[in-house]
Amino acid sequence: MGFDTRILKADEEGIRLAAELLRKGEIVAIPTETVYGLAGNAFSADSARKIYAAKGRPSDNPLIVHIAQLEEVEKLTREFPEIARRCAERFWPGPLTMVLPKSEAVPFEITGGLDTVGIRFPANKAASEVIKAAGSPLAAPSANRSGRPSPTCAMHVFNDLKGRIPLIIDGDGSAVGVESTVISFENETIRLLRPGFVTPDDLREVSDNVIVDDGVLNCVADNARVSSPGMKYRHYSPKAEVIILDGDIKGFEEYIRKNAGKSDCCVVFTGDRLSVENPTMEYGHNSKEQAAMLFSVLRELDKQGFERAYFRCPDKNGVGLAVYNRLLRAASFRVVKL
Ligand code: AMP
Ligand code: MG
Repeated sequence: MGFDTRILKADEEGIRLAAELLRKGEIVAIPTETVYGLAGNAFSADSARKIYAAKGRPSDNPLIVHIAQLEEVEKLTREFPEIARRCAERFWPGPLTMVLPKSEAVPFEITGGLDTVGIRFPANKAASEVIKAAGSPLAAPSANRSGRPSPTCAMHVFNDLKGRIPLIIDGDGSAVGVESTVISFENETIRLLRPGFVTPDDLREVSDNVIVDDGVLNCVADNARVSSPGMKYRHYSPKAEVIILDGDIKGFEEYIRKNAGKSDCCVVFTGDRLSVENPTMEYGHNSKEQAAMLFSVLRELDKQGFERAYFRCPDKNGVGLAVYNRLLRAASFRVVKL
């Protein structure tokens, strides 16, 4: 800590400096197609400690390990089952994390004490170049302070982590905008632990048996042992109280007119016609746009200091399931059925 945090473009000089810092055991923020990641050597317990400290993240919340070549899976796992290979072939590089039995080389500090490791092969060019130049897979959680929304641009990272890390690589914005889909395997069954851009229907192309874990749509108790530890943290919580209004725009309007106070804000779909006195923000026409915009909208709410934010409920299917899953946590599961 106490760093003079630099922001460099993902050019030769930026990649070289990132790799140099990583090889020295430092941690660096890098762009990926999902959200920005805070990366450190995946085989180093010390790097894991630095990541948890910079984020202020509880250390039982495992880190995802990022690779740039398929062969790296062998070093990280004891077993790479056939069904996981089929997922890799279909979705990698891309926004899918697979939970597999970890090898001895991966320290428990990286996996939050679990005997499994989450692995992802990102598609983002800068991410891939940094991993290759660092010469090792990189453990990287989202590069936000714990409890803040995940960062989708370099300035979000800077606002959260300035002074706490030496370098941020500024690449393309995060086109996907929500964190990766996380899955685990039970024989031929795929269990969806966290929804993302890769949807349940996409996964059904690889196996007929796809189960959505209870933690995706339900609140998980603080002391529960869960298959995807991240799901139990409140996460993404803006200062405003978030409330999800589940229904059409007419019902939304009526509810706001009756219930909203002066310092409350409405967040609706782009193109919705809403006629109310409250300030209004938009978060995209469809699920893909909403995934890309959600976290910057949550950050904007914080900046403007609203007391409450009423969100029009996203579609719960496809990529919308990922948007709804994040929003539910931002709302501490407060949903009003209209
Ligand atoms: P992120 O906050 O994007 O770094 O994602 C980390 C999340 O991925 C964790 O909070 C877990 O929900 C999930 N995850 C990572 N590794 C594992 C693992 N070994 N087992 C289960 N879930 C994991
Ligand atoms: Mg995160």
